[in-house]
Amino acid sequence: MATVGVCEDEPGLRSVLTRALRNVGHEVQAVALASEAMRAFRETPPQVLILDIGLPDGDGRDLCLALRASGVDAPVLFLTARDGLHDKVAGFEAGGDDYLSKPFELEELRVRLDALLRRRTPVASVPADQPLLDGSRHALTRGDREVTLSPTEFRLLGRLMAQPGQVVRRHTLVAAAWPMGGQVSDNTLDSYVRRIRRKLDDVGGGAITTLRGVGYRWQ
Ligand code: CA
Repeated sequence: MATVGVCEDEPGLRSVLTRALRNVGHEVQAVALASEAMRAFRETPPQVLILDIGLPDGDGRDLCLALRASGVDAPVLFLTARDGLHDKVAGFEAGGDDYLSKPFELEELRVRLDALLRRRTPVASVPADQPLLDGSRHALTRGDREVTLSPTEFRLLGRLMAQPGQVVRRHTLVAAAWPMGGQVSDNTLDSYVRRIRRKLDDVGGGAITTLRGVGYRWQ
């Protein structure tokens, strides 16, 4: 038995999932929106998360990044109607652990969830006064201060914040921030980081360290 957080906007699928998971003994907290998920799952992090990618108020991968950046370390299973390679790769770069394309068999979902629960590895806890990312509005907040990030800035910072104290290599950051691929020059990455640093200054917190030629580190 585990606590499972579900974020799926389609009411039919949400109730089928909730019922099926409760039937096998899990405790389920189900929400329909990214904004609700951010509130609910940050307050009481479930042991495993099921996140739909296409949500009305955001992308499930951005929600995953924002949750990871706020210290939620539960493994994530993404649900998607799309099964293109780009979506899968970008899902994993966002910190997701597994993928299931709709439609799927409930039995397969249960098997994948059990595997994720076995693989669980805790990460370091996040300081209480650290800035928070909001996945539905691409906002960065700290106390009552708030700035808006572009989707690329959001993904870049989210990827860094998900691994506090560790160097994230340049190519990993590029893959996370530009999920559709394409050529991204070193200068482009650096100028995005400069912009993010200014926005961090605006909310009064958080430092990104440069490791020349290697990558960047969040605090
Ligand atoms: Ca959806």
